[in-house]
Amino acid sequence: MYAPAGVKTSKNFPIPDKMKAWVLGNPGELIYTDKTVPVPKKAEVLVRIDAIAICATDLDNIYHGPPALIEGGKPFNKNWTPGHEYMGTVVALGPGVDEYKIGQRISVEIHAGCGQCKRCREGMYTSCHNYGLNYGDVDKGHRANGFTTDGGFCEYQVNNINTLVAIPDDMSDEEGTLVVTAGTAMYGLTELGGLVAGESVVVTGPGPIGLMGVAVAKALGAQPVILTGTRDNRLAIGTALGADHVINIRKTPDVVAEVKKLNGGKGVDYVLECSAAPTGVNEALYMVNRGGKVCLAAFPHDQALVDVAHIVRNNIYIYGIRGEGKSATHRAEAFMRQKRFDATKIHTHTFALADLPEAIRYAKDRVDDAIKVVVKAKYEAAAKEAAE
Ligand SMILES: [Zn+2]
Ligand SMILES: [Zn+2]
Repeated sequence: MYAPAGVKTSKNFPIPDKMKAWVLGNPGELIYTDKTVPVPKKAEVLVRIDAIAICATDLDNIYHGPPALIEGGKPFNKNWTPGHEYMGTVVALGPGVDEYKIGQRISVEIHAGCGQCKRCREGMYTSCHNYGLNYGDVDKGHRANGFTTDGGFCEYQVNNINTLVAIPDDMSDEEGTLVVTAGTAMYGLTELGGLVAGESVVVTGPGPIGLMGVAVAKALGAQPVILTGTRDNRLAIGTALGADHVINIRKTPDVVAEVKKLNGGKGVDYVLECSAAPTGVNEALYMVNRGGKVCLAAFPHDQALVDVAHIVRNNIYIYGIRGEGKSATHRAEAFMRQKRFDATKIHTHTFALADLPEAIRYAKDRVDDAIKVVVKAKYEAAAKEAAE
C-alpha cells in the first residue's frame, strides 16, 4: 500500500502503488501501461485525476513534440505522460502542506515556475527562465505538467500547491477541467488591461480559448464583444456565451469593415487573437483603433507576415501570452463559481481514460463537431452505476 515517509494520507482515500497511465512512444503513438504512483515532495500534493480535457496543444505535443520539452529535448520514447487540463481530488499531502485538505476537489493550472528566477519573482511564472530545467544536475524545480513533466492522462499526479484552484462541490468534473481554459482567456484580457467594462473587444477564432474569451470579456463588462470564425455551430455557442455579434468570415468578404460597422464605424479597443490563421495577426491589427491593443493567444505553425508600419503609425500594442499566468485561473474560477457564464457549453464529448486514442481522434478530426473532449478514469464505472 502507498505510504511514503513524510506524506500524509487518509484511509478514506486509499492509494494503490501502481496506476494506469498513457505514455508517448513515437510521434502519435500512445501506449497504455502501468506506472508507479508518484510521491509529493515539499509544497506538493498527490491529485487523484477525476477528469481531464484534451487541448489542441496536447495534439502538438503528441504528434510533433514541441512545445513539450522533456529532459531538454523532444518528448518521444521517454516514458512521458502527456495531458494538462485536469481536475481531481487531493488524496495525499507532501511534507508541511496545510493549504489543502485530503478529499478537497481542485482544478489545476499547468505551470509551477522555479520560484527563483527574475520572472517568477515578478509573478510571471509561465515565463519562467528555467523552463524545462527539472532533471538531473540542472534541476531548478520548474514544473509544467504535461509539457516538461508528467501530465494527467493517468490516474494520479503530483502538483505544486501553487497550481491548485479549489472548486465548489456543485461544479461538475467536466466543468472543473475548463477552469484552466477560462483562465487562459482571463490572462489574455488581464494583459490587455484587465478592466474591460465598456471597452469594445473582438475575439478571432471560436476554439475553446476564443469561446472562453467571449464569456470572460462579457463577464468583465466589455461592450460590444464580437466573435469571428468559420463554423456557424461554434459561432452559435459564442452567442450563447454572450457575444453581441458574430461574423462568419466565410460569408463576409471584408471582415475588418464589418467589425468597424458593428462598432459604430470605429476599430475596437482590444482584439484577442485565437484563430492561429496566418492572416490573423494583420487582421487583428486592422480591427483595433489607434492606440488599441492586440493579444496573441494562438500560435500559427508557419511564420506570419506582419504590417509593422501600421503598428508604428497607429501606436498599437501587441502582447503574446503563454498559458494562464498571474493566477488568472483563480479569477476565472471565481466567475464560474458565481455562474457568470456556463463553460460547459464548450464541452461536447466524454470518454473513459482507457479510450484516450478515440477521444483524441474526436478532438483532432472534430468528429461530431467536437470542441472540448474530456476523459475520465472512472467513466465506465460511473456510466454503469447510472444504468443500474
Ligand atoms: Zn491547454
Ligand atoms: Zn522561474
